[in-house]
Amino acid sequence: MQQYDEALFEYYQIPRKYEFLIPSFLSDAQIDLIMLMGHEIMEHEQLVGLIHEKMSFQVSFPDRFIADSYHDTILDKVISEEGKLCYKLGEFYNRIACCARYEYDKWVLLDEKVRFELDQYILSEYLARGVDETITQCMNGGIDPKGRINEFIDLEDAKNIIDHASAYVFQFRCDCRSYVHRCDNPLDNCIHFGKPHINSPADRGHGKRLTKEEAFEVCRQANKHGLMQNFELHSGGICNCCACCCIPIRTSIIKGSNHIWPIPKAFIEIDQGKCIKCGKCVKICHFGALSKEKGQDSPVVYDKEKCRGCTLCYPNCPSEAIKLVDKREVKYQNLDEDH
Ligand code: SF4
Ligand code: SF4
Ligand code: SF4
Repeated sequence: MQQYDEALFEYYQIPRKYEFLIPSFLSDAQIDLIMLMGHEIMEHEQLVGLIHEKMSFQVSFPDRFIADSYHDTILDKVISEEGKLCYKLGEFYNRIACCARYEYDKWVLLDEKVRFELDQYILSEYLARGVDETITQCMNGGIDPKGRINEFIDLEDAKNIIDHASAYVFQFRCDCRSYVHRCDNPLDNCIHFGKPHINSPADRGHGKRLTKEEAFEVCRQANKHGLMQNFELHSGGICNCCACCCIPIRTSIIKGSNHIWPIPKAFIEIDQGKCIKCGKCVKICHFGALSKEKGQDSPVVYDKEKCRGCTLCYPNCPSEAIKLVDKREVKYQNLDEDH
């Protein structure tokens, strides 16, 4: 195996155990750039000079190389104290998500075991980077509105949120499902709002801009497909999630934060008189909160303890036998701000 300079691990924050992934995730030119930049923060012109004078690889179009390196999360943008746009190195953690989402041809070449391992690594980092703290706070009875709150919403909320949001609406690829594809649910259904800020996927050139109508249609179709709508105010987005891949939902299962984080939208009641016992709700619920004995006439049984209040079963019941109870209002303020 090729030996890498110790500084590469430090500069690009590559965990030692992932040394074997370096050739899959970084080109030789990108490694050269990382080694030359180190911890420096550079203005665009300085960076162009460095690429011209010091790189051992011939880069004919430095502007293009810088843009591509930013696109691929090798570089991050930073605003200097004087208000100037500068660049610094990104980090390996973000490179994993970028690769899984947008460099699929490269990603699928990784051994399946490695993809599972990276999925676990992302989950543990997700917890360590503020979510563990937020969930623990919520479980102790305090909700910091600036914390990383996740809440289940229904389609009506999704419509209201989208209507109240900034005119900048983007559709991105779901990273959680891109890591190991535990299910075959659609991938392009993360909706984000707000003018792209530096280091956001949209600013890096990923995703697709949608109209508000298109954004709501993505949510509606996802709901029909059996995906739950999950609102993240801190990141200004609506995610359309399954429970098998979704890192926030898997995190909540690990933390045992049922009924607390994600915040439930509502619980349900079943009108057995209206129920035609089709079993659709049993199949669609991700948490086994609905069950039905074999046999056409056996009733659907609801277990509120297992229910997470996602409301997914409600619009998918063909005979309107499901009613939402204890509905929580979702706050729509500040959605037009840039996140
Ligand atoms: S939170 Fe949900 S939609 Fe968003 S990336 Fe994860 S699974 Fe995909
Ligand atoms: S989806 Fe509706 S009608 Fe079908 S079993 Fe569930 S509650 Fe009954
Ligand atoms: S029973 Fe609860 S958790 Fe299951 S789909 Fe319905 S609302 Fe969601």
